[in-house]
Amino acid sequence: MSPPYPKRVALAHTPTPLQHLSRLSQRTGFELYVKRDDLTGCGLSGNKVRKLEFVLAEALGQSADHVITCGKVQSNHARATALAAGRLGLKCSLVLRCQDPKHPPRPAGNHLLDVLAGAHIHWIDYAQWPDREAIMAEIARTINDSGGKCYQIPFGASNALGAWGEIRAMEELRGDLSGLPGGLEVPVSLVTAAGSGGALAGYSLGARLFGIPAKVLGINVDDYDFIVNTVGKVHREAAEKYGLTQTPVRGRDYDLIDGYLGEGYALSTPEEIEFIYEIARLEGLVLDPVYTGKALRGLLKELKNNPAAFARRIVFMHTGGIFHLFTEMPGLDRADPSVLS
Ligand SMILES: *Cc1c(COP(=O)(O)O)cnc(C)c1O
Repeated sequence: MSPPYPKRVALAHTPTPLQHLSRLSQRTGFELYVKRDDLTGCGLSGNKVRKLEFVLAEALGQSADHVITCGKVQSNHARATALAAGRLGLKCSLVLRCQDPKHPPRPAGNHLLDVLAGAHIHWIDYAQWPDREAIMAEIARTINDSGGKCYQIPFGASNALGAWGEIRAMEELRGDLSGLPGGLEVPVSLVTAAGSGGALAGYSLGARLFGIPAKVLGINVDDYDFIVNTVGKVHREAAEKYGLTQTPVRGRDYDLIDGYLGEGYALSTPEEIEFIYEIARLEGLVLDPVYTGKALRGLLKELKNNPAAFARRIVFMHTGGIFHLFTEMPGLDRADPSVLS
């Protein structure tokens, strides 16, 4: 069975491995796997690359020579877009949010890669952030007025077109799971960090399409209601635009688990940072502080406090984000290894 995939431009190194986490499995009593979508590339890595394969194919199909998207200063999506644009010979503009556009931060982490890729950065502040799509449209108009052709990618590439990237990841996962004992007969809990909601929307669509016996669980690392809204929007758009009418049902096919946002988006508590140290030592697995660190920590807490809500077989989506470790994050280099077990 192959769903009506839209045009795709190959950018991601796929298939990514499904890796067993033996020590963490032993510790939790669950059968834990991680789908290594952090290995979709080097600079061009993480879950955003899969979305961009479809989104940028549409941009090329419309003969665009310039793309524009937006994000917060350490956006993985903006970085992936800047590098993918470079790879395809497109110009790239980014609308990035920071505290004070008159004094933007020094390039580091993802932002450094944006600069390296030659992206034009337009800084906006927190008050302008709700108007980001209109601000991008305005910049795109200016580019078009001076003879360019600019394609606008929404926040997180979280629309139905981008969701095809996650649907394709589920096609891959179907093959991965077939190779495990019991194959596709064994129920699975599929767990992901949810930032804008696109990943949760796409994985849940893909799991239904490919008959994976999985409930997809998002753990929010940003505003809960915004994510729930985006998931609904993407599902509706997927039905209208692509005829994907087997819409996942919240509660049955997917859900969003609250309680692990901590201090807020991209803010870390000492416990969250210690958890990243702990997993790196236990499994050699590098998590990021904004998405995967919070989500895996949330998952392990849920397994302890609410085990009946999970299947015995669990797949955690490693959606990438490593570059955030290479920024001046308060506390990141100050975790006291002696307090770790
Ligand atoms: C964007 C992102 C996510 C979440 O994806 P959404 O589609 O925005 O919900 C998870 N992990 C990482 C590392 C990301 O960059």
